[in-house]
Amino acid sequence: MTPQNIDSNISKDSEAMLDLVTKFSMDIMRKAGIELDKMSKPEDVIASDSVLWDVHRKYQELGLHTARIPKHLGGTAGEADPLASVLMIEQFGYSDTGLAISLGVSAGTFHLASQFPHPDMQQLARDYCEDKEAKMIGCWAITEPDHGSDWVIAESYPQCGPSVKAVLKGDEYILNGEKSAWVSNGTIATHATLHVSLDPSRGMQGQGLAIIPLNLPGISRGKPLDKMGQRPLNQGSIIFEDAVIPKKYMVVPIPDFMNATFGQGLADVNGGMAILFAGLARAAFDEAFRYAKERIQGGVPIFEHATIKHKLMKMFAMTEAARAGARRMAIYNLKNPVSPSVAHAVAAKCFSTETATFVASEAIQILGGYGLAKEYPVEKMFRDARTGMIEDGCNDALLIKAAEFL
Ligand SMILES: Cc1cc2nc3c(=O)[nH]c(=O)nc-3n(C[C@H](O)[C@H](O)[C@H](O)COP(=O)(O)OP(=O)(O)OC[C@H]3O[C@@H](n4cnc5c(N)ncnc54)[C@H](O)[C@@H]3O)c2cc1C
Repeated sequence: MTPQNIDSNISKDSEAMLDLVTKFSMDIMRKAGIELDKMSKPEDVIASDSVLWDVHRKYQELGLHTARIPKHLGGTAGEADPLASVLMIEQFGYSDTGLAISLGVSAGTFHLASQFPHPDMQQLARDYCEDKEAKMIGCWAITEPDHGSDWVIAESYPQCGPSVKAVLKGDEYILNGEKSAWVSNGTIATHATLHVSLDPSRGMQGQGLAIIPLNLPGISRGKPLDKMGQRPLNQGSIIFEDAVIPKKYMVVPIPDFMNATFGQGLADVNGGMAILFAGLARAAFDEAFRYAKERIQGGVPIFEHATIKHKLMKMFAMTEAARAGARRMAIYNLKNPVSPSVAHAVAAKCFSTETATFVASEAIQILGGYGLAKEYPVEKMFRDARTGMIEDGCNDALLIKAAEFL
C-alpha cells in the first residue's frame, strides 16, 4: 500500500531499466541489508561467504555498475532518461542506503578514471565495465584521522594540510600517512581515488588526486569499522608506509586544477546523497503508512486517529519536498556537469538527510513499541538516516561551505 505515483513521462526502455533496478534492490539488496545489519562483528559483513558479495556480484552481473561510464569504454552512460536515472538512484536508497553507498562509491572511482585521457585510466574504466564478478571494488579516500571537515571548509588555512603526503622521486611518488577508518569500502576496495598533499606549504590548496590499485607494496588496511547505522557498508582505514606509486597514477598532479574542480566534486557527491536519502525517507513513510492502515487500536485502524493522519501527512509532505528538490537539482546538474549548482546539491543533501531522519523517527512513533523492535525495518532506517547527516561531510560544515556558492 503506497500513495499514488505521479512520476510519468518515462520512456519504455527506461521503465524497463527501472523495473530491473526495483527488482534487484528489493529482492537482493533489501534482504541482504537486513541480514548484514544484524551481524554483530563488522568482520562477518565482509567474510567470503557473506551476502554482501551476492549484492556486489549481482549489481555488476546486471551491468548496473556501468551507468555513468561512456559507451566507447563499454559503459551505458546516457541510456536512461534523466528522470529515470534519478528514480533508479532513489530506489537504491529506498532498499538499503548503506549498500547503495557501497555500490555507488565503488563505481565512482572507475567513473572518475574514465574522465582522464591517460590510456591506463581508460583501460581501468574498460576493465571495470567488463567485470561481472565484482573483482574490482573502488573507494574514495579523503578523510584522515586529523582532517574531517577541514576538507570542506578549512581549505584556505595552511596549517590544515592533508597528512597523507606524496613526494615525487623520479618516476614514482612515495606516499606516507593514513586515511581514516571512515573510508567507505576501505578494507575491501581494490582501487582508490586518493587525495594527497603534494605541496604541504599550501595546506589543503596543495593537494593532488591519484587513482591507484591498492595492492602496491607499502599499503595496508585497518580493521573494519563498527558503527551505529549503515552497518552493511564496510568502512576502514588505509595506511601508506613508504608506498611507491607510479607517477602515471597521479591523475591530478597540479593543485590549482584540483581547486578549480572542487565545486564539481561537491555537487556530484552531495547530489547523489540527496537522491538516496529522499529514497530512504520514502521507504520509512511507506512502512509507517502501511502499518497505520493495518494496526487496530480503539477498535479502528490507527490511521483513523487524527494525530496519526496529521503525522503521516507531514511526513509525506516533507518526503515529497525532499524528492522534488533532489530531482530538480539532479536533472539540472546532469545537464550541466561542468558548472553544476553546488548550492542546490548541498541544500538537497542536507534537506534529504534531515528529512529521512525526521520521517524515520516519526515512523518509529507510529509503530509504537514495534517501531523499536528489530523485527520491523524502521529502527534500522532511523539509524541509517541519522548516519547520513555526517556522511560525506557533516551537514553543518557543508552548509557553511555551500553558502559561498549562492
Ligand atoms: C557513513 C559514513 C561514510 C563515509 N564515507 C567516507 C568515504 O567514503 N571516504 C572518506 O574519505 N570519508 C568518508 N566519511 C567521512 C566523513 O566525510 C567525515 O566523517 C565528515 O567529513 C566529518 O568529519 P569528522 O567525522 O572528522 O568530524 P569533524 O570534522 O571532527 O567535525 C566534528 C564536528 O565539528 C564541526 N566542525 C568541524 N570543523 C568545523 C568548522 N571549521 N566550523 C564549524 N564547525 C566545524 C562539524 O560540523 C561536526 O559537528 C564517511 C562518514 C560516514 C559517517
